[in-house]
Amino acid sequence: MNKLIIKNLSKTYPNGVKALNNVSIEIENGMFGLLGPNGAGKSSLMRTLATLQEADSGSAYLNDIDILNNPQDLRKVLGYLPQEFGVYPRITAEQLLDHMAILKGITNAKERKQLVDYLLDKVNLYKKRKKNVKSFSGGMKQRVGIAQALIGNPKLIIVDEPTAGLDPSERNRFYNLLAEVGKEVIVILSTHIVDDVRELCTKMAVMNLGEIVYQGTPQNALDELDGNVFKKIIAREELEDHAEQYSIISNKMVGGKPLIHVFSETNPGNGFEPVYPSLEDVFFSKINTSNVIV
Ligand code: ADP
Repeated sequence: MNKLIIKNLSKTYPNGVKALNNVSIEIENGMFGLLGPNGAGKSSLMRTLATLQEADSGSAYLNDIDILNNPQDLRKVLGYLPQEFGVYPRITAEQLLDHMAILKGITNAKERKQLVDYLLDKVNLYKKRKKNVKSFSGGMKQRVGIAQALIGNPKLIIVDEPTAGLDPSERNRFYNLLAEVGKEVIVILSTHIVDDVRELCTKMAVMNLGEIVYQGTPQNALDELDGNVFKKIIAREELEDHAEQYSIISNKMVGGKPLIHVFSETNPGNGFEPVYPSLEDVFFSKINTSNVIV
């Protein structure tokens, strides 16, 4: 069992933005979802854990590796899929992975060939191995990204906003791959997409304005909120009024009319009915804003 322990991590950029404010999290093997709106500080945290930038204070340990003070040791057991995985223009999937394996120190050509074949097979791209990565779809590129992140048997895999730009079937295939990979190592999935976390993650944290505002299981978050979410279908003209009067946490159009969910300690009456919360409700209630624009 691997254990990542992050304690009181803080980072303020030179422009004064406090991107990480006393962040503490403990993460074990499995898929961990780090959910937060754009600007929450997710990438700052991921980049710090990937040893690409330094923190001002705090500590982070993966097992007995002191990540902040011994970045070289961490890099040996890290797989990282950044937000934008830059790929070389005219290079095949096979060549790309071979090149990455050399960079990761696998010098024996035979061993490298075996590894590359294994990875191509694992991400279901073996048949396309002679094709230029440039010609690949978004989903296929992300699978190449995962394959390179798996080189060197990492204990910690970080994927930053991996499903942006994928169509639903590509996203599904990518989810399945991550879920399989995540069984024996720590996978941190940073995302602003609630579905990514719902589908995949056994544990999660919600981040907002540089702080962790929730950590636990998705189910616990739902149970905590149960009893405080109420729904109502309203007319479109009523939306503005309702937004002023209630704390709306979600708004979906159903048959041309807004179906709103509001957060309230007690039943607000006025046609509202209690409803079991969704993970989206959790997200918007934790970050304390509404996703409703009127
Ligand atoms: P997220 O990944 O959740 O969108 P980021 O970690 O990218 O959040 O950003 C957190 C905050 O820090 C934002 O306000 C962002 O504008 C700011 N920020 C990120 N990187 C830098 C940087 N290199 N210099 C200054 N500000 C930054």
